[in-house]
Amino acid sequence: MVNSKIKYTESSIIDLLSEICDPEIPVVTIQEMGILRGVNISEDFCEVIITPTYSGCPAMGIIEQDIISLLQKHDVQNPKVKLVYSPAWTTDMMSDATKEKLRNFGIAAPLHSSCMNWMKPSDITVTCPRCASKNTRLISQFGSTACKSFYSCNDCKEPFDYFKCH
Ligand SMILES: [Zn+2]
Repeated sequence: MVNSKIKYTESSIIDLLSEICDPEIPVVTIQEMGILRGVNISEDFCEVIITPTYSGCPAMGIIEQDIISLLQKHDVQNPKVKLVYSPAWTTDMMSDATKEKLRNFGIAAPLHSSCMNWMKPSDITVTCPRCASKNTRLISQFGSTACKSFYSCNDCKEPFDYFKCH
């Protein structure tokens, strides 16, 4: 299938979208986050399928706008965004390389998603992204955004965000 005067394909649209970063984590793209699920293209529309990382996450509205304006800028016909909630996004959709990027950005990478099903947040050992100490403590369930918790390291004394798994 093609779209527009310029011949776009599903994969060329995905290439375009790969420059869009998560508004909350500017070092990681929506593709690396596993938010970008796919593209449906036809002669008269281009539908981008994304899965929210966190229900009610305000970043999703920003991501939607970023996608639409980027596609409009590239003359893609009638761009749309479709939110798909199933299968639900989990932190397992991030690759190890993506989790490493998060760590370098100063955000503790999430544990396996299944941990939240049976563990209380206070039982989770979160590793400090700066000094790798496991001697950390939860300061607040909500960090800079609802998707993250706020922790402090007892060794290097630095506060940091922990990207919640869910
Ligand atoms: Zn530390």
